[in-house]
Amino acid sequence: MLENCLDPDIAKLPNEFIVYGGTGRAVRDYESLHRIKDALRSLEDNETLLIQSGKPVGIFLTNRMAPRVLMSGTMLVPKWCTWETYFELAKKNLTTFGQSTAASWSYIGTQGIMQGTWETFKQVSMEHFAGTLSGKLILTSGLGEMGSAQPIAVTANGGVCLVVDVDKQVVKKRLHTSMIDIMAESLDEALDYIQDFVQRKEPLSIGLVGNAADIYEQILTRSIKPDVVTDQTPAHDVYNSYIPTGVKPEEAASLRESNPEHYEQLIRITLARHLKTMISFMKKGSVVFDYGNNIRGAAKKAGVIDAFCFPNFITKYLRPLFCEGRGPFRWIALSGDPEDIYKTDDVILKLFPYDQKLREWVEFVQQRFTFHGLPARVCWLNFEERPLFGQVINEMVRSGKLSAPIAITRDHMDAGSVASPYRETEKMLDGSDAIADWPVLNALLNASCGATLVGIYQGGGVGIGYSIHSGMSIIADGSETAQEKLNLVLKWDPGLGIVRYADAGYPVARKNLRQKGFKIPGNEGTSYD
Ligand code: NAD
Repeated sequence: MLENCLDPDIAKLPNEFIVYGGTGRAVRDYESLHRIKDALRSLEDNETLLIQSGKPVGIFLTNRMAPRVLMSGTMLVPKWCTWETYFELAKKNLTTFGQSTAASWSYIGTQGIMQGTWETFKQVSMEHFAGTLSGKLILTSGLGEMGSAQPIAVTANGGVCLVVDVDKQVVKKRLHTSMIDIMAESLDEALDYIQDFVQRKEPLSIGLVGNAADIYEQILTRSIKPDVVTDQTPAHDVYNSYIPTGVKPEEAASLRESNPEHYEQLIRITLARHLKTMISFMKKGSVVFDYGNNIRGAAKKAGVIDAFCFPNFITKYLRPLFCEGRGPFRWIALSGDPEDIYKTDDVILKLFPYDQKLREWVEFVQQRFTFHGLPARVCWLNFEERPLFGQVINEMVRSGKLSAPIAITRDHMDAGSVASPYRETEKMLDGSDAIADWPVLNALLNASCGATLVGIYQGGGVGIGYSIHSGMSIIADGSETAQEKLNLVLKWDPGLGIVRYADAGYPVARKNLRQKGFKIPGNEGTSYD
């Protein structure tokens, strides 16, 4: 799984161990990578390797039910939890930024984010446009490792998507790998296509080279009102990754170095323009949401007082799913054989025939997607479906229907695994947005249940100081021990999410808690009536 994250087909900058999301690293440095790989090759079934922010620090005698790998990543004592302190410490090679699934070696390339993005745009279409984006214009930006899932997710839901990215090479790469349908030479050309395809109600995705702040303003000035406006520039780490206007991506590093104050000022100006334009679109009637990059937080720091006047995508579209313990369940064929995944695709559709959205997704992803790195699949399943499917996978490995073990994992953006007040836990019913006990409990619970890898991390998605989240992977190797662990881990990992949302007062989560046999102290399993 570690090598898969760093596969050149998957990782953003494999030579620097950067996997995705700005500078999200899988390991600290070259030496750590090799020491980790050596340790994993010789690790016994009753030993646990400990990793401190991407560096291996010890192998401990534990037991067969314990995780083989435990991690803590980018953790800083709260008072010191700022980008400034992080940079100082990273410079001394004492820590590294792991984003989310880069740190926990469970990144599977664009398909991982593709499912979440598909799910989001599906929910957007259901909430605002009677279930389809047909004849609708979606304006967004950022064609990076995560952002490039947007155009496909929009067109799969029938819409027209204009995606702005400042880096010409990135736009070309996305055209070359069919992540966008066409690359427009100018805004005029893009708008001609948009008018045509929106009118004909046909899907199309267009990549346009430009700075989002500039292009959004130009679109607003022409009195064009996109139906949906969002953004996936790397605003979680504005200083290192977000490009200010007037600066070419290849000039950014030297300008940062030669004149940091000027550079910071340019960023502030760009962010303010970028966000104010999004607010103007909202005022004109566009559906506007923050797509998980903390652009509102960055813009607020840059002086936009009402930066938080539009919601983030999770609060608005995905939280109801988390209340059912439904979230991004991933599995990876360690054989490297795509057939192993196709066989599990057939099984999942037979196992959950009532889930029409699941069928649509599997059929779509099979037609539209080629595997990068190890063949993998991601589907949103609830807390009862996950252990059931895990059992079936383990049985398929045991009986030889699959040619090798399967790694089962998930995104950190899941029901019970994250505290992130500008994303997953924004505007919680009981005001518990910044309570970070839940992801810590989630990691501890997963370790107790026997997950193969468990980690707890800080700063993923929204940047240093803004989130705490946990990762989990478990290997289905066909053994009875795996069966026992899968049953526990795959149920209670999302199950804790139901407890968390019930505790915050969400009626659907409370109903699940009541009906699904959770044991709550003092209530004998029937808490929250
Ligand atoms: P990335 O670093 O791989 O790519 C960012 C892209 O944005 C690059 O192609 C860059 O050229 C472009 N860009 C930078 N500044 C720009 C500007 N001003 N105008 C136009 N384009 C610009 O990042 P990524 O992995 O795609 O992630 C994007 C953001 O989404 C990050 O902030 C990440 O933390 C966040 N994120 C989102 C989710 C989610 O579920 N939606 C999950 C995790 C992270």
